Amino acid sequence: MAAPPAGPVPAAFEAAHGKGRPCVITRRATFSASHRYWLPELSPEENQARFGACSLAPGHGHNYELIVAMGGGLDANGMVLNLSEVKHAIREQVTAQLDFRFLNEAWPDFDLTRPDGLLPTTEALVRAIWKRLDAHLPLMGLRLYETDKLWADVLGDSMEAFLTIRTHFAAAHRLARPELSFEENSAIYGKCARPHGHGHNYLLDITVRGAIDPRTGMVCDLAALQAVVDDLVVEPFDHTFLNKDVEHFASTVPTAENIALHIADLLQSPVAGLGATLHKVRLQESPNNAAEVFAEVPQLGMNPQALEALAGA
Ligand SMILES: [Zn+2]
Ligand SMILES: [Zn+2]
Repeated sequence: MAAPPAGPVPAAFEAAHGKGRPCVITRRATFSASHRYWLPELSPEENQARFGACSLAPGHGHNYELIVAMGGGLDANGMVLNLSEVKHAIREQVTAQLDFRFLNEAWPDFDLTRPDGLLPTTEALVRAIWKRLDAHLPLMGLRLYETDKLWADVLGDSMEAFLTIRTHFAAAHRLARPELSFEENSAIYGKCARPHGHGHNYLLDITVRGAIDPRTGMVCDLAALQAVVDDLVVEPFDHTFLNKDVEHFASTVPTAENIALHIADLLQSPVAGLGATLHKVRLQESPNNAAEVFAEVPQLGMNPQALEALAGA
């Protein structure tokens, strides 16, 4: 297309750059900060029992990673938003205020002498970041990694958050349906049908959804959630031959899909017992394949588009 004539830009030139077409964009930012889990209304023993090593003075730190998902129609320049504005808003509203700070004192949200103060957990922090960025950016979702094994997502201006823990186990399996011949199984499952099995280092992400407690800042007791996943999945599955050592797979072929579904079945009611809802199980079998099970029907304004953008960021 030739350069536009002088004067107002004709609509055709703007349309050429995708004006109005919807898109989700993500931006990543990092900061380092420390925190301490300590509620003044609890005794030292109670704080220790409740929060473990996180209660130790003077605190400990994390290298946080924030993913900001934003959406909207493209402008005439082919952008949802100019990235320099995005960078500026994130720096001014978040990283310049939190980087190298003690979170308990950085924002009044975490001032525990206030009745509405809450502990700076991952989910409480990402919620507090939402409150600050919402006025400046067309937010669709935020994800905050505290470590590569713990992160929280928020998808709107509410106390609702998603918390994900990552763990792993190693196990062997064989893909074969006992009612079929070796030739038939080989035709379906290929090398995975070989009689003595093979193994994987499975990576397991468990996502729970719930309301952030207004005082502890937690969707559920993190240590209790980790204990449930360890007791019901990691311990019984790790270093086993799934087909023989885990009863369910004596009769159900242990594909990644079936392992993820079984894990979801095992965890659903114990997670509910912790006051949260099991949202998703993601089982990565190898760098090249994973199975995801959504354990609940989409609800409460969940936005799969934004979740996906966060997951891939
Ligand atoms: Zn911590
Ligand atoms: Zn396999």
